[in-house]
Amino acid sequence: MIISMNKKYETQDGREVRILCVDAEGLDSVVGLIDGVAERWHPNGVYFDEETSNFDLVEVKETHTIIRWINIYFDDESYHLWESREKADEGARKDRVACKQVCIMNKKCLCIFCRNPINIKFWGGSIGGKLFCNRKECLIKLSKSQGEGL
Ligand SMILES: [Zn+2]
Repeated sequence: MIISMNKKYETQDGREVRILCVDAEGLDSVVGLIDGVAERWHPNGVYFDEETSNFDLVEVKETHTIIRWINIYFDDESYHLWESREKADEGARKDRVACKQVCIMNKKCLCIFCRNPINIKFWGGSIGGKLFCNRKECLIKLSKSQGEGL
């Protein structure tokens, strides 16, 4: 990893870092601020030469999250993604059994119970497949919510 001005970083122990430059004089060419105090790192984000440190830099991946609403029907595993609960209500058929919120993070749908990413198909404003992961807790929650068409 080479530290870049275009990416976000934090320290190994989760402190926010603002990178000021990556081309300062000397071996520790990365300069950044932690709580207003300037610190220096090697170009690869390492704080000390010989050992790992809580001050080593870790890239913070940008997350892109979208919230959508889906109407659930019996025996149907494809769901139109509605922008709001109101729109989902308006677009619902009479035989709707439930309306659920889904969270889509970095184009991955999250399990409606535990919010772990799950594999689901996307096509033109709809998703298709199971809305939950295979973890035991989630399957237990699923069995409790039977009758909601999941
Ligand atoms: Zn889950």
